[in-house]
Amino acid sequence: MKGPWWKGGVRFACQSQCGRCCDEPGGIVYLSPDDARRIADHEGLEVPEWLNRDARTTYDGRYVLKSRESDGVCIHLDENKQCDIYSVRPQQCKAFPWWGENLADKRSWSQTKERCPGIDAEDALLIDGATIRLHVFSDRTSSKGFRSWPPSTGFWNR
Ligand code: SF4
Repeated sequence: MKGPWWKGGVRFACQSQCGRCCDEPGGIVYLSPDDARRIADHEGLEVPEWLNRDARTTYDGRYVLKSRESDGVCIHLDENKQCDIYSVRPQQCKAFPWWGENLADKRSWSQTKERCPGIDAEDALLIDGATIRLHVFSDRTSSKGFRSWPPSTGFWNR
């Protein structure tokens, strides 16, 4: 049976000191309810307090991470291009570059490769199709997001 082009695996290794995927003005990171719980706990805050401080909502009400007003880049990218909440980072960040939109076809993947030097890097490892599928699922779950706390199970949070 025919599956996605990436089912046989894709070569990738995230490059240290890179941070290019986070260093994009206007980038959007959708938050899942688990992200909100985990990061708020890490910051020693209740979820609503943390959402109020470090998140904003999109035009349709989903919660996303805030960006810096000065340059539009994620508030968690430090001056050394490192994520300052790396151990608890949102699952959508963990899932990059394995987002559905990037993997949609070879053309989208080529465009992703221009932004991500980890794809086909010299030290890249073959990431198997099952692992990629888990990341795609994770990205999709995060993109659905949530619009209130505690998250509602109504139509708009599906
Ligand atoms: S752009 Fe690619 S290689 Fe660079 S930090 Fe992001 S995932 Fe890693």
